[in-house]
Amino acid sequence: MMTPEAYFGTGPVVMASAPGRVNLLGEHTDYNDGYMLPCATPQRTQVMLALADDGHHAFYSASLDEQVRFEADQAAPPGFGRYLEGCIRLVEEQGADVPAVRAYVCSDLPLGAGLSSSAALEIATLRALRLLLHLPLDDVALALMGQQAEIRYAQVNCGVMDQMAASLADEQHMLLLDARTLQHALLDLPNDSEVLVIDSGVARTLAGSKYNERRAECEQAARLLGVASLRDVLEPSVVEGLPEPYRRRARHVVSENLRVLQACAQHGPALFGQLMAQSHASLRDDYEVSIPALDALVALLSAHSAVYGARLTGAGFGGACVALCRKHCAAKAGQDVVPRFNASGHKARMVVPLA
Ligand code: ADP
Ligand code: MG
Repeated sequence: MMTPEAYFGTGPVVMASAPGRVNLLGEHTDYNDGYMLPCATPQRTQVMLALADDGHHAFYSASLDEQVRFEADQAAPPGFGRYLEGCIRLVEEQGADVPAVRAYVCSDLPLGAGLSSSAALEIATLRALRLLLHLPLDDVALALMGQQAEIRYAQVNCGVMDQMAASLADEQHMLLLDARTLQHALLDLPNDSEVLVIDSGVARTLAGSKYNERRAECEQAARLLGVASLRDVLEPSVVEGLPEPYRRRARHVVSENLRVLQACAQHGPALFGQLMAQSHASLRDDYEVSIPALDALVALLSAHSAVYGARLTGAGFGGACVALCRKHCAAKAGQDVVPRFNASGHKARMVVPLA
């Protein structure tokens, strides 16, 4: 792995960073124009930029120990360079001239574990470009540009939650986000609580294809109900008339939105934990994006005396689980649960709080 000093020689010109995110409640709601409650991870991705004098963009990722270099007016080769290139193109679309740059990327976020290292990379890159070029862009604009970079250049059809969280959330609060209006507010975590995240170690192999399938099912459910999106369904019972699988898919989204609003209305930790448990059951039974390993991890977490509630977080089919724990007890709960889960051959590890 190369150091920034070795990479830049004279040192970078600007430096910026952005966190990953953990979604506490409101899963698979963002592309349904709904509500969600992510918070930022303590882990961050850092992007350093310097001007290049050879007309080529060159990016180095210390996380991957990988380098790409390409002519500034050409497309980046497939791989992580697409995320950075996408951010540069989005800035250019805003009318700015972006000179050829050298970028150094490093991160303590696990990649591909469901903590949205991709959004952290995009927002850190956009923040660094904003600094370098003195761009008059606010944090919401940056989030939307990051989302477009991911959709159009990394070819991942993502919602807007990850980039909004990376751009606007912090570790001490949860970000209430309305995906339709982009209205947002930082709310205190439930009293006397803290967040525990365990990466199950199970790769999210099916996540991409099933994610697209669920999105299409939700669009079809909305069409059948005659609404623009499932966010517009406020009376849960109307979904019961839909044919399967639309009935259960819509039931998850509609009930999940209500759970987020309920959690914000009166956020004691015990109720919040119950809502997380209901969310997991709904993701497992109605949305069908869980797998036995995640169910087992959630069961172990839920049985722990310091845990108010637990669920899978992120798109599902592997990746991480989140639990709301009694304050100052999350690390201990993680240390108790991880070995029990790994006893059946898994390779889970605690990712929040930091060891
Ligand atoms: P997640 O966002 O949940 O971590 P994704 O599959 O959406 O998972 O994004 C992971 C991809 O994002 C990586 O494969 C890589 O292409 C890119 N990426 C994220 N962080 C970095 C990094 N620090 N260095 C290089 N590439 C990164
Ligand atoms: Mg991602």
